Amino acid sequence: MQRRGLLLILSSPSGAGKSTLARRLMDWDPTIRFSVSATTRAPRPGEVDGQHYYFRDRAAFESMIAAGQMLEHAEVFGNFYGSPRGPVEDAMRDGRDTLFDIDWQGGQQIRNSALGRDVVSVFVLPPSIAELDRRLRGRAQDTEEVIAGRMAKSRDEISHWAEYDYVLVNDDIDKSFHQLQTILEAERMKRDRQPMLADFVRGLNREFENR
Ligand code: ADP
Ligand code: 5GP
Repeated sequence: MQRRGLLLILSSPSGAGKSTLARRLMDWDPTIRFSVSATTRAPRPGEVDGQHYYFRDRAAFESMIAAGQMLEHAEVFGNFYGSPRGPVEDAMRDGRDTLFDIDWQGGQQIRNSALGRDVVSVFVLPPSIAELDRRLRGRAQDTEEVIAGRMAKSRDEISHWAEYDYVLVNDDIDKSFHQLQTILEAERMKRDRQPMLADFVRGLNREFENR
């Protein structure tokens, strides 16, 4: 029985743990499609074009917007980020879920789009700002200047927590992952996401009649 795919949006201040949660969710259920964003920022060590991001220059990014290929786009930390529309529409058609690791601006745009009813949004909070700072440094992927910029932006990102359907405080990664699984499993069972149920119940009624 094919259900309707949903769009799972994960947002958090940088360093709160959403990429870690996203990776674990996709390991757990490989049918989930990760929405690979396009960005004008430079790749970090280990990041692969087409897997973590589509790394594009400003002109290529702008032409994707002009061609209507972006479901949403926003400027974050002085770079442009956006979610390509095509793979999301393909996944929806196949009844598969798409996972987005995007900021509050992207979350707002998709929620307000024609796909808004298919959105399930989850905001990840850090247990404290001191711990957020430790995690950003622990990742050891950014310069001191970049880390300072991200910390300054965190307050703004956190101010949007109440726009989300669910909020996790990521103190323990195993607990947070379990909570995220629970959210996804429950949302998949929503009646609206199971349009085949009407046929299924008609079949049950036929069985009653034929007894
Ligand atoms: P984000 O994608 O939100 O920027 P990451 O998933 O990259 O954050 O996590 C930032 C750092 O914090 C990583 O080094 C990650 O391993 C670590 N981390 C994530 N969740 C937890 C947690 N609950 N406890 C301790 N460390 C965590
Ligand atoms: P990073 O540079 O650390 O990979 O990501 C920086 C921020 O940009 C994160 O908050 C991330 O969620 C957000 N981001 C990544 N891709 C997109 C996107 O396609 N659209 C929007 N709006 N934000 C994105």
